[in-house]
Amino acid sequence: MIRRVLHGVSLASAIRRCPRSVLLGTRLLKNDKSELFDPWAGQERRYSLSFSRAASAAAALNDGQPRPTSADVPKPPVPQPLESPPASQLDDRKVSVGWDSSTWSRFHHIWLRDHCRCPQCFHQVTMQRLVNTFEIPSDIKPSHVESTPDGLKVVWPSSPPHVSVYPWHWLRRNSYEPVIPMDGPKHEKVLWGSKIAQDPPTVAYEYVMSDERGLLKWLQKIDTFGFCFVSDVPPNSEATEELSRKIGRIRETQYGSFWDFTSDLAKGDTAYTTMALAAHTDTTYFTDPCGLQIFHLQSHTDGTGGASLLVDGFYVASILKELHPEVYELLSTTRVPTHAAGEPASLYRPTPLAGYPILNLDPVTAELLLVRYNNDDRSVLNSMVAGDMEKWYDALRVWNKFLTSPDSEYWVQLTPGTVVAIDNHRVLHGRSAFDGKRRMCGAYIDFDEYRSKLAVLTEKFRTDSVSNAAAQLVNGRSGWSTDF
Ligand SMILES: [Zn+2]
Repeated sequence: MIRRVLHGVSLASAIRRCPRSVLLGTRLLKNDKSELFDPWAGQERRYSLSFSRAASAAAALNDGQPRPTSADVPKPPVPQPLESPPASQLDDRKVSVGWDSSTWSRFHHIWLRDHCRCPQCFHQVTMQRLVNTFEIPSDIKPSHVESTPDGLKVVWPSSPPHVSVYPWHWLRRNSYEPVIPMDGPKHEKVLWGSKIAQDPPTVAYEYVMSDERGLLKWLQKIDTFGFCFVSDVPPNSEATEELSRKIGRIRETQYGSFWDFTSDLAKGDTAYTTMALAAHTDTTYFTDPCGLQIFHLQSHTDGTGGASLLVDGFYVASILKELHPEVYELLSTTRVPTHAAGEPASLYRPTPLAGYPILNLDPVTAELLLVRYNNDDRSVLNSMVAGDMEKWYDALRVWNKFLTSPDSEYWVQLTPGTVVAIDNHRVLHGRSAFDGKRRMCGAYIDFDEYRSKLAVLTEKFRTDSVSNAAAQLVNGRSGWSTDF
């Protein structure tokens, strides 16, 4: 095992202290989360299946062959109405639901009335609210509540009385007082370092193109690892574009829609040269940076070099958070201005002009959401708190040190026939210098497009699960879905 000592703390011991993440750096996959690819992950315990697969997650998840078949995928049980439904109680402002003797959820009357999803209150095709929130009396109170096998029945004192039935799984999933953590397996990202090279996530082109489960598998692996290869792709731009469009609409930028280029400086960007490129994310100068990028090296003639570099920004950030929390704090709070000014016809800068931090955290959970980093695209630092300037440069130096550490860098020589899709909000990419002539093609896909396709396919392959069981489906979707 490689042990590297960093600032007096071994990386291995630092990683052991990262309890929430699965790390593929110095220690390969210490935590097997085979349920990552359970399409029914996140269901409540009473409906969930517990099954596990041994072996390393990467190996278990690797997909040279089309799979799984319906025969080897456990089906979730079709939920049955509860034999003894949770208890319910009514008071002046709230309805209480007792899941067990010690866990009660409380729902405000106004919230319950506003969230009725019966066909009168919620359009069963458009999935939009019909109930007029502003006609609900602010002091509304049910005339009656009752626990039924199908859900919490609430009778409202209108004329005629309105009856709402809230499915139990929906209430539990949406409980806000208290928030009830979802039982069962949770999706976790696998953070990785250089050793991902031993078993990088891959799916087969035929599987993606011929079966939506294959497409789902590709997207799940991108979600888990931040990138995923597709093998045995015909080495031409038509097949690559068709593959890209399986995920969603291609984002048109100053580089075009689906792009196909050689190293001829056709665009005013270093990507169009033969120079080495340090690890970076793309389009840091957009308010909404591109979500996925898809690359395919179609040919490389009369030269060598041009190895591709991938670095898991979330992995590097997790190490910083452990070893240098003050650096993590500074990089996640200091805004960095950026620009793209290499093309006379465009001048891109994000809104706000002060830019965004390198590490962008979820404002609710403080989890890392997005890495935005291209040191070459950084503008003039002129809005930073003066006292932070030297500290910020020191922090940037630490970030760069871990980013460029051999432990973090995954180098791979792409060859025609292998496409890579990269989550540009998480994984940084770069390349070594090269000579000769390279022809690349690829595309950007918006993050929302990619997440939408992932959500749709996840929903589709759990249609017999609890989320959709309590109500009739319209277009394969229920108004009582817990997804929205
Ligand atoms: Zn209603």
